[in-house]
Amino acid sequence: MQLAEPQDFERVLSSMCTEPHPAAREAAERFLATNPGDPGTYETVSDLETRAVELLGAVTGHPDPAGYVTSGGTEANIQAVRIARNRADTSDPNVVAPASAHFSFTKAANVLGVELRTAPTTGHRADPEAMAELVDEDTVCVVAVAGSTEYGYVDPVPAIADLAADVDALCHVDAAWGGFVLPFTDHEWDFSDTAIDTLTIDPHKMGQAAIPAGGLLVRSERLLDELAIETPYLESTSQVTLTGTRSGAGVASAVAAMEELWPAGYREQYEVSMANAEWLADQLRARGHDVVDPDLPVVAADLSVPMTEELRSRGWRVSKTGAGEMRVVCMPHVTRSMLRSFVADLDWY
Ligand SMILES: *Cc1c(COP(=O)(O)O)cnc(C)c1O
Repeated sequence: MQLAEPQDFERVLSSMCTEPHPAAREAAERFLATNPGDPGTYETVSDLETRAVELLGAVTGHPDPAGYVTSGGTEANIQAVRIARNRADTSDPNVVAPASAHFSFTKAANVLGVELRTAPTTGHRADPEAMAELVDEDTVCVVAVAGSTEYGYVDPVPAIADLAADVDALCHVDAAWGGFVLPFTDHEWDFSDTAIDTLTIDPHKMGQAAIPAGGLLVRSERLLDELAIETPYLESTSQVTLTGTRSGAGVASAVAAMEELWPAGYREQYEVSMANAEWLADQLRARGHDVVDPDLPVVAADLSVPMTEELRSRGWRVSKTGAGEMRVVCMPHVTRSMLRSFVADLDWY
């Protein structure tokens, strides 16, 4: 029987995930048959998870972090909203987020019975004044995005944290994609910069770990208690995760990637990816396209629909923003030579 082969990354410009680092791939394979959801049985991988949280703390400026390795940014965002909802004293909770927030917040609101209120953005970033009009005494969580899914833009996190504090809500930062590039920029986004409470950061995106490896971090252990559920049949007595049985491969792989790459390897990757994004933006501008200035390594430009379709038919995997722009995510597998042949195909068109 012919074994199916996964796609290669040679023409993938649309994904927020990438080829895992070799050390991360190896660790994922080694820990395939482990379950950190049962720490009494799978002790080694449980220790690795503690290490993963420590390392994620280093990346996000938190000397004493608590949290866990989630199945991805979606679970981390759902759990952050759940913490905020459980902690608050209201029967009619709402979450305020910029319109640029990831669709996982819609899932969170739906699953948790919370109202999601989204405020228009200005220049692809959250507008704290527009968000201020939506908060009230039933607001349990105010969301800031650090590295938006569509444009890679960073919200004014300190102003959003102030707004959250004003109404005694938690401030959650979604750095699912941006978390492993932001430390090398001037943006204020992490636990050391501002009074944020919870944060999403995914090793399986810019962190170069194998899927599934997301991350939820909280400022103090106390916040995790909001998630604790008793577990009668396990040796451990309570569980804070949303999933029960879960992948030890993701946990081990996240540790391997971070031990290998934090900080020098991630810095180098950020510099290469950013230079690629700027190069591509220049090339597109030179061809007369309107380009959204890249802030982090994401490029969006107003290519026509037929042009984007032609690129797709040539095997390029590109995606579109809600506004219809073509979007390229300069992940670690996206090299300059890949982008050169992409641009050459554009010129052919
Ligand atoms: C990718 C992404 C998510 C969702 O993460 P998954 O790992 O796909 O569940 C959430 N927020 C942002 C900003 C993202 O880029």
